[in-house]
Amino acid sequence: MTGFQTFSDFVGLKGFLKTLSKDSTIGLVPTMGALHFGHISLIKRALKENDIVVVTLFVNPKQFNNTSDLSNYPRVPEEDIKLLDSFKRLCVCIPQEGDVYPENDPYQEVQLGLLDQVLEGEFRPGHFAGVAHVVHNLIRIIEPAKAYFGLKDAQQLAVINLMVNATRLPVDIIACETIRNSDGLALSSRNALLSKENIIDASVIYETLAFVKDNIRKIGAVEIKKKAIARFKNSNLKIEYIGLVNRDSFQPFTDGGEGGICCLAAYCNGVRLIDNVLF
Ligand code: AMP
Repeated sequence: MTGFQTFSDFVGLKGFLKTLSKDSTIGLVPTMGALHFGHISLIKRALKENDIVVVTLFVNPKQFNNTSDLSNYPRVPEEDIKLLDSFKRLCVCIPQEGDVYPENDPYQEVQLGLLDQVLEGEFRPGHFAGVAHVVHNLIRIIEPAKAYFGLKDAQQLAVINLMVNATRLPVDIIACETIRNSDGLALSSRNALLSKENIIDASVIYETLAFVKDNIRKIGAVEIKKKAIARFKNSNLKIEYIGLVNRDSFQPFTDGGEGGICCLAAYCNGVRLIDNVLF
């Protein structure tokens, strides 16, 4: 296969994938659409490492714990296809809910433990159960050798690794670095809901995370968290949570430890933004 193809269900997609030579490797990039260069960076990496790449566009209702967030989520499939149609070796699949969650659903729920209770888990009840479910089914159906996810959603990545280990799906999960705009704001489909002023206001997120990374080893987790919260008090954003944890276990970070991550969620003019920094 050399070109670009679109499919509106898995029957068509799977039929097509079966026509490829048996040793072709498939890379999967699951997305909810409203694509930006963060998504594109995952797709480019997947194209480098696989013969064929499948991009799914599916706004997964099971991972929204808030109905207005679900209905406001940007949906622009025509623009998404336009952004991708010059790529070679790429399949885009836009499935329906019934394709992703068939009556004979193959998913056996995985217990997510602490990951479902802290940070995103605490503030978005049910969100990660929905993420684990959709990613499981997409991998089970499409059968990629590798699946690509952004570190921007680091807790989601930890959930997916846990789910894949627990269900023994034969797939490599590949973590991809966060893509940012020139001011450091992490690219996100939700940024489309922000005004120019909002985007300037949101710079407090990256500045705070950079401050944490530069100073955590000098002043410790407790002090740095206080200072980080203070930065938001002097801004137009409303912080929902900020936490310093181990990047794999999501247990609280202890000073002197390795492999930390600082994660935060904040509202900018009603739009919920998340970001993190590894330290
Ligand atoms: P979404 O469409 O928001 O579900 O995102 C689909 C995938 O793209 C997820 O694995 C995200 O972590 C990843 N992603 C979203 N934004 C970025 C970004 N700014 N940089 C890198 N990856 C991203």
